[in-house]
Amino acid sequence: MAAKIISGKDVAAQIREELKQEIDGLKQKNIVPGLAVILVGENPASVSYVTAKERACKEIGIFSDDNHLAADTSERQLLDLIHEKNNDPKVNGILVQLPLPKHIDEAKVLMAIDPSKDVDGFHPVNVGKMVVGERAFLPCTPHGVLQMLKRSGINTQGAEVVIVGRSNIVGKPLANMLIQKGALGNATVTVCHTKTKDISAHTRKADIVIAATGYPNTITADMIKDGAVVIDVGVNRVEDASREKGFRLVGDVDFDNVKEKASFITPVPGGVGPMTITMLLYNTVESAKMAAAVH
Ligand code: NAP
Repeated sequence: MAAKIISGKDVAAQIREELKQEIDGLKQKNIVPGLAVILVGENPASVSYVTAKERACKEIGIFSDDNHLAADTSERQLLDLIHEKNNDPKVNGILVQLPLPKHIDEAKVLMAIDPSKDVDGFHPVNVGKMVVGERAFLPCTPHGVLQMLKRSGINTQGAEVVIVGRSNIVGKPLANMLIQKGALGNATVTVCHTKTKDISAHTRKADIVIAATGYPNTITADMIKDGAVVIDVGVNRVEDASREKGFRLVGDVDFDNVKEKASFITPVPGGVGPMTITMLLYNTVESAKMAAAVH
């Protein structure tokens, strides 16, 4: 039987509606969550991501403080701007769109963000808090994956989960979140990567397979067991002359064949993608509540 498709668009819309209502309530207490979005340069993909984030903020009532800087902005100027936003009470979250131009040290810039405004959840203070199970901003893409599972009625408790990919922004934090005690965790997790000897031997035993490699067809139907849940984080461009842009987006999973064997599957596009911005909005609202000591 073909798998049930988990629509990231639908889950994201549900969460955004909940956030909008929460923001309406906060505004009655004169609390307006604010997100400073900082873009350096004009990389087309970055411009489109930033535009989507700014629009999403405005749609649900978050104050979007848009900062579009020239490509030749110096590291010092960027650090000064972050310092200003760290001290601006109207700003609850700071998002620096990556990648930055080559003359700017990304790690230095991310470290300059006040951890209490690090709504991307990339600062080592927030990573550390997440690992030890303290309240922290959870990184947006992994948190989006967990929300999709939860809101589709998929229980991670006691589940065998295999994550393929060990990056700092997806695989590693996701593994950490899934082993935490609690409703979104309690899973038994295996993380595979390019040095794993036999990836199929792991994925075939998994109740939930999560792909985050950045390569199409990393997960094929023979690699999963009947009824597995398959979450595809990957976003890859493949040439397609029939499309106006000359390419189409696919994930890391051989969707057409895997969907015939899985119980649930996420599509690309329209799967994990829409969840990432939504969890950024969620973190911004959490930050505003923390700053105003509203729980
Ligand atoms: P990354 O930093 O390039 O990491 C990829 C990971 O996958 C690495 O750990 C690598 O192993 C592993 N890997 C690559 N090929 C593999 C293979 N054939 N078998 C097993 N492991 C393999 O990528 P990322 O930033 O995590 O992103 C992964 C994908 O998710 C990309 O397509 C990206 O565009 C997408 N993504 C989507 C969202 C979203 O919002 N939907 C957000 C973030 C990322 P090694 O460590 O051994 O090299």
